[in-house]
Amino acid sequence: MTPEEALEQARDAGVHRLRIPTPFAVGRVNCYLLEDEPLTLVDTGPNSGKALDELERQLSALGHSLEDIQLVILTHQHIDHLGLVEIIAGRSGAEVAAIDVVVPFVENFGGDIELDDRFAADLMLRHGIPEDVVIALRSVSRSFRAWGAKADVSRPLHDGELLEFRDRALEVQHRPGHSPSDTVFWDSEREILLCADHLIAHISSNPLISRPLDGSEERPRALMTYIESLRRTRELPARILLPGHGDPITDHRALIDERFAHHKRRAERILGLISERPRTAYEIAQELWGNVAVTQAFLTLSEVLGHVDLLEEEGRVGEVEDGDVVRFEAVE
Ligand SMILES: [Zn+2]
Repeated sequence: MTPEEALEQARDAGVHRLRIPTPFAVGRVNCYLLEDEPLTLVDTGPNSGKALDELERQLSALGHSLEDIQLVILTHQHIDHLGLVEIIAGRSGAEVAAIDVVVPFVENFGGDIELDDRFAADLMLRHGIPEDVVIALRSVSRSFRAWGAKADVSRPLHDGELLEFRDRALEVQHRPGHSPSDTVFWDSEREILLCADHLIAHISSNPLISRPLDGSEERPRALMTYIESLRRTRELPARILLPGHGDPITDHRALIDERFAHHKRRAERILGLISERPRTAYEIAQELWGNVAVTQAFLTLSEVLGHVDLLEEEGRVGEVEDGDVVRFEAVE
């Protein structure tokens, strides 16, 4: 099945992809309109006039208006997916649904800036990122927040629950990893999975480290969590996966196996670097990617730490404290 055929089959099932522009490197974000009762929008696009115009235009091409939306489902906490939620809910009176663990985050969006920033800054400094980069990133992340918005979640969802519509039922499945709140929606009858950023065909979804939603201070093992989530998704007999960016996926098992192999290779490469001499996560990132743009510093740190976690779990790498920073060393 080609991606075009998959989109067509999804359309036949009343699931329409809306491609909404974002100001981010990732390009457009996919929202999905479920023509059902209630009329449902899965994700919203970022909080920008351009995104709102596009959303209204694409809805109207399908014979609907923003005011017709009765339910907005959020797949996860990232701003390119939820930024317009407040405006849409305000204009349409739609209910807003999101996985229970993310409700305080969405309802208090932007309110925990200090905590989020401190968590990220401590993590970066501890892993060797220079202070000027940390400070620059703080202002980048603050300016990004304008594309998000807070909203009241009137319909908290629970892992495993069945969301019932007139013509379909979607099973809610919490699949943390890319973010702590990733949720996928499984239509077992049609074997269609709305998978958001949990799995994307053309890019490897980065398991970004974020401050734990339960308020704990411990650093999440994002890649390990993600791999476990991918294992569960791999078991689904899905025919079509509709992701948050790019084209539909029609062979998720092969794609997930590719991701596993990629992570394994990268972990081995990082082990090679650590075996030469103990290094900080920042030093490892520099070896792998050179001096990347400041905006990528947190991303690459998340990436390195994810793989170091895998190596630690296997007992091949250990941590040594060196003043204020942590270095990783090979275990003989
Ligand atoms: Zn995302």
